[in-house]
Amino acid sequence: MDTKQEILSRYFGYTGFRGGQEELIDAQLSGRDAFGIMPTGGGKSLCYQIPAVMLPGITLVISPLISLMRDQVLALKSAGIPAAYINSSLTMEQIRLVYQNLRMGRYKIVYVAPERLLSGGFLALAQELNISLVAVDEAHCISQWGQDFRPSYLKIPEFLEKLPRRPILSAFTATATPLVRQDIIRILHLQFPLEIVTGFDRPNLRFEVRTPESKKEALLTFLALRKDRSGIVYCSTRKDVEEICSLLQSKRFAATRYHAGLSDEERLRNQEDFLNDRRTIMVATNAFGMGIDKSNVSYVIHYNMPLSLEAYYQEAGRAGRDGEQAECILLFKKKDILTARFLIQKSYEDSELPEEERAVVREQDLKRLYQMIDYCQTAGCLRRYILAYFGQRQTGRCGNCGNCTAAEARRKPQKAPAAPVPTGRMTTKDITREAQMVLSCIRRISDALGHSSTVTMTVLVLRGSRDKRLLEMKLDGLSTYGLMASFSREEIRAIIAHLEDAGLITCDKHEIVCLTPTASGVLFRGERVILHLDEAEMEAKFPQSGFVQTDSRLLLALKTLRARLAKEEQVPAYVIFSNATLDEMAAKEPKTMDQLLAVSGVGEAKAKRYGRAFLAEIRKYGG
Ligand code: ADP
Ligand code: ZN
Repeated sequence: MDTKQEILSRYFGYTGFRGGQEELIDAQLSGRDAFGIMPTGGGKSLCYQIPAVMLPGITLVISPLISLMRDQVLALKSAGIPAAYINSSLTMEQIRLVYQNLRMGRYKIVYVAPERLLSGGFLALAQELNISLVAVDEAHCISQWGQDFRPSYLKIPEFLEKLPRRPILSAFTATATPLVRQDIIRILHLQFPLEIVTGFDRPNLRFEVRTPESKKEALLTFLALRKDRSGIVYCSTRKDVEEICSLLQSKRFAATRYHAGLSDEERLRNQEDFLNDRRTIMVATNAFGMGIDKSNVSYVIHYNMPLSLEAYYQEAGRAGRDGEQAECILLFKKKDILTARFLIQKSYEDSELPEEERAVVREQDLKRLYQMIDYCQTAGCLRRYILAYFGQRQTGRCGNCGNCTAAEARRKPQKAPAAPVPTGRMTTKDITREAQMVLSCIRRISDALGHSSTVTMTVLVLRGSRDKRLLEMKLDGLSTYGLMASFSREEIRAIIAHLEDAGLITCDKHEIVCLTPTASGVLFRGERVILHLDEAEMEAKFPQSGFVQTDSRLLLALKTLRARLAKEEQVPAYVIFSNATLDEMAAKEPKTMDQLLAVSGVGEAKAKRYGRAFLAEIRKYGG
């Protein structure tokens, strides 16, 4: 029998457990109920997936969202674990097939929507099966005190009672308030569960509250500086989603939208566009995001104040799951308080609970709202405020939130970044290769379009941006697309400026860029392009020096391969390998299958399926 460590490495390709995972897995394996409270991205899924693989019989995972189920099942299957899901997106025929396979013991894990539990067909089948474990994902949905109450979750205890034998029961949530926690234990009848609360801090998230004169302008300015990034803009009403999404589209941002008023098809399509980076900005109500595992979300903006810090932290927490620095910005105006009160009042009026309970719910909602408002107005460290709310004490300032930075700036007023002080030492850099990339990109864009384009577009193409206009013009199909992804915008602009100085290109006042006849010497006859600059200026212009080229080209090749495979198999790219895994692959450059298996995120099934292709790219592009 494999140990949990072996399962972790063989199927999921990871070398170690994260905080809390091991204890929660052990509890379930020993037959004890378990209750895991971890922040979004903390790794809850593995806590029940590993016991599911190890226990005899099958594991049912109860999960609220169709998209979440499908993605999780895709990921499990691609890791080599037989899994399926049952929800309303399947046809009768597909459901029959899943039932049949279930009877024959073909799956280890089956995801099921809570609505389905008590339906005749499913219940009868479940009573025949050998169910070892029932895991309840997003367990806070069972509590009326939580912000995502789903009455269908109340069917879970009834379902469990109807089973001939009580399976091990585990529950997972990112909501940590004591009231919700008690509710989960009480309503689900968790029996002496091992309860683990892991740290809630997400150090790579930078929190900030802004109170701009015009939110729209603040948003546009923010986004204009992050065109090559992907992010979410949350609004509190459908109307705002519509308005903001149209605004962004009219300014040529690659935005899409999501709210409960759209058809199922459109919601799914828009979500897929976002997950697959065809659209980089998702404008949505809080209906969007539960279970969304998109790792490269680099900012989450709240256009309106959410109703509670639980909601805020959960939504903001969708940023930076890849561990990269990410920004969580809340745009606050006093008017938001009125909207929030209105929404709470409305949910009170629409509620089907008895009057007495409704009143209590509203009181709780208002209490949470006041803490949210307080967060928007505090001058203290925002991270400390959030963590304290979730019961995690922290002293001192974090240094990485809007308020900490502002306090820092007050202490020592910052001068505008000064021009570099010349050192008097000149230095040279051979940028022939980079110049060739830029020149050939300019040429290919004008060949493709039939006319010259701008410096900005050249930079976008070279950096592999998902800019909407770029995609509309199909410039992502050029061979120079993404060739300089490791360079910053400013670095590429600096190179372009040098090429202009050197007479290799011309730029007019509209930034339209054209090659001059001398460019062909560099492109075809091996003429060198040398930068000759003061050391300080060189350092200022090329700080991160994407000139260390081999890695990034390799990484780019790996990402291209991943995109191709994802398209072929019609799965989101991260189901194949996450960004973190590709980064590690590019850095370690494994030469053999064994070395590849040592990369975090490469399990046996994936190595078998994709290993040869990725190793071939590494041989081709590696250093
Ligand atoms: P949650 O459900 O808590 O929001 P997930 O289960 O989706 O989080 O996990 C978030 C990410 O972390 C996933 O990409 C997952 O594969 C990864 N992950 C989980 N556990 C580990 C681990 N022990 N080592 C490395 N990565 C992990
Ligand atoms: Zn702080």
